[in-house]
This record gives sequence, C-alpha cells and structure tokens, in this order.
Amino acid sequence: MDSLNLSAVTAGDDAGIAGVAARADVNLDDCYQCGKCTAGCPMAHEMDYVPRQVIRLLQLGQYETALRAKSPWVCANCMVCSARCPQGVGISDIMLSLRRTAKKQGLSPVPEPDIFDDLFVATIRMFGKSNEAILAGRYNLSSGHLMQDVLNAPKMAARGMIGPKLHTVKDKAAVKHLIDKILKGDKQAAAEGGEHQ
Ligand code: SF4
Ligand code: SF4
Repeated sequence: MDSLNLSAVTAGDDAGIAGVAARADVNLDDCYQCGKCTAGCPMAHEMDYVPRQVIRLLQLGQYETALRAKSPWVCANCMVCSARCPQGVGISDIMLSLRRTAKKQGLSPVPEPDIFDDLFVATIRMFGKSNEAILAGRYNLSSGHLMQDVLNAPKMAARGMIGPKLHTVKDKAAVKHLIDKILKGDKQAAAEGGEHQ
C-alpha cells in the first residue's frame, strides 16, 4: 500500500462527499480514527485505503481519491466494521455509497465485481432469481477468467445448485418491474445530479 498523507486538507468536492454520506446515513464527524473497523475487516489487506482511511479521505475533502479507490470494490459488505465501530459509523454503507456513486460516474477501479454485479442483476431480472450456471458462465466469458470455478461444477451439480432445470419464480414480471423501477430511479438520480446533493 502506498503511503498516504492524511494530514493534508484539500478543498475537495464538499457536495459530493455530503451526498455520499447522506445516502449512507453517516455523520463523518463521528469517526475519531480509532481503527477498530480496520482491525476487524477481512478484506483490508486487499484495499488501497483501509476502512479507517476511507473515512479520513472523506473527512479531509479528498472526494476524487475516495471515488477512485479500490477499497469499496473489494469490500465484501460483511458489516463487521460497522458492528465494531464504537461511534456507530456505518462504514459498510459508506463503502456501498461510494461504489454506487463511482459506478454512476463510469468509474470501476476493480472490473470484476462490477461485471459480476451487472450480470447478477441481469440474471435476476430475466429469471426472477439467480441461476448459478448461467451467471458463472456469463461472468467467466465477460471477465476473461474462462476457467474460474469450473472445478466446483460437479459439487454444485450434486447439491442441485446447477443443472438442466432453470431456477425461476412464479411472477417473473413483478421482479422485472421492481428491478426496472430501481434502475430507472438510479439513472434519474444521476441525471439530476443526485450524486452531489
Ligand atoms: S471504528 Fe468507527 S470511529 Fe473507529 S476509525 Fe472506524 S469508523 Fe472511525
Ligand atoms: S463491510 Fe467491507 S469494509 Fe467493512 S469489514 Fe466488511 S469487508 Fe471490511
């Protein structure tokens, strides 16, 4: 991990940061940088900025750096950080808010989770629920990781996770309608500058 100057205050994009914090329902000033979130994070070793530093970036107005960070994309959203925080800071919500904001701005520093997210939503939209074989096949093709998890296929088949029969729900149209509504709302928010409220 590169060294990080966390004492430098920059002008930054205050409105953008306020939007990220508001959508996560987090008061950034509540964080006193104790590091308990980072100590419990199972993905911290993969991050360019550990959870405590992500909060600090936002406290210091370093919006662009936070938006371009890999950390929100490798975050597993396990919520351990939020559970450990003595100040009740919802760091996992901040990670999610940053990730959604970055995506709406065309930024995805780690492509694989972005590809997976899109395909997962598309699969649910199509069938009403996930179909592992279709999802995994499309993911491997789109990501270029052609052989990823191929060796797990026999175990998944034995457990009924994959097979010739498609997993679906009775009212696929209702699920599709719900997802379209959410996606439309996201697009509208981005078009109306919702990321800078
Ligand atoms: S645990 Fe909470 S107060 Fe401590 S550094 Fe993390 S976010 Fe800040
Ligand atoms: S939610 Fe993300 S940042 Fe928080 S502990 Fe889990 S992996 Fe780490």
